Amino acid sequence: MPERLAPPLAEPLVGRLALIGLGLIGSSIARAAQHLKLADRLVVSDASPEVRARVRVLGIADEVTETSAEAARDADMVILCVPVGACGTVAAEIGGALKPGAIVSDVGSVKGAVVAAVGPHLPAGTHLVPAHPVAGTEYSGPDAGFATLFLNRWSILTPPEGTDAGATDVTRRLWEAMGAQVEIMTAQHHDLVLAITSHVPHLIAYNIVGTAADLETVTQSEVIKFSAGGFRDFTRIAASDPTMWRDVFLSNKDAVLEMLGRFNEDLAALQRAIRWGDGEALFDLFARTRAIRRGIIDIGQETPEPDFGRRHGEETTD
Ligand code: NAP
Repeated sequence: MPERLAPPLAEPLVGRLALIGLGLIGSSIARAAQHLKLADRLVVSDASPEVRARVRVLGIADEVTETSAEAARDADMVILCVPVGACGTVAAEIGGALKPGAIVSDVGSVKGAVVAAVGPHLPAGTHLVPAHPVAGTEYSGPDAGFATLFLNRWSILTPPEGTDAGATDVTRRLWEAMGAQVEIMTAQHHDLVLAITSHVPHLIAYNIVGTAADLETVTQSEVIKFSAGGFRDFTRIAASDPTMWRDVFLSNKDAVLEMLGRFNEDLAALQRAIRWGDGEALFDLFARTRAIRRGIIDIGQETPEPDFGRRHGEETTD
């Protein structure tokens, strides 16, 4: 599996590439696009003046515009890298500026809601190819991005039925150039799969950290002091961007509620097993789940090093 980005392309994949929203994901795409020479010209915009100023200092784009519409004007491809709940607003802003044949994509963690919010604002003759890179960290903002974020990760494309095959192909090649593997599925299937692999795990992390914070019989300092017992691994996920995750849950309501229903049933079964001393049931489940982690390591999506490769020799507490 490659450990670094490929050398720059001999020919750019797109002429003018516009990125709207230069946080973790947008700035990672910008850095990768610059390094790989994915576009003749990279133009970016962000609603926040502070972010625009920072991107100018970082020098990760050819041009930073004040508005989304200015960035999208004459672009061959526009990628919306804003929270899911802002995709419709940005689409409304750029719709009138898009040239015929332009590809509009996004990186949102929910796909059905993005297609519904963005589609109606795009003029005839433009192509919507939604995407979701399954890669990220708990950090936000333009300083958090890095060019190798998508290396050896998956990017899921959900082109609506009847989407221009050429537009889907350009989007696929863009993600592959950034080192990602691409899979194509419907938006509905994406939202169901990601509900269990990403959205519900985040909700569980937010919930367990919230529960610990509210405990009366265990002090906050004890929770922090003894966090290496498992709690701290949840806190990494629970430190994820509040705006982004609020939008994810509001936009993927049905699939998340469906998966939470199943989760609650299974949790009740575990509760019963503990109450009745059914060690066999507990052992069977824990053995199956251990095999799932091995599977994730085997396909290169996680390090095999114990404790995520933390360097315990350098730690001063525990
Ligand atoms: P982020 O670091 O918070 O960056 C989002 C940027 O978009 C911010 O600079 C924000 O400005 C800007 N923005 C918000 N509304 C806007 C608007 N109407 N017009 C222009 N810019 C706007 O978020 P991120 O982590 O990069 O996430 C971006 C998207 O990627 C989300 O849809 C998320 O679901 C998806 N995603 C995230 C991850 C992850 O791990 N983080 C992974 C895969 C996909 P303000 O700060 O002023 O609001």
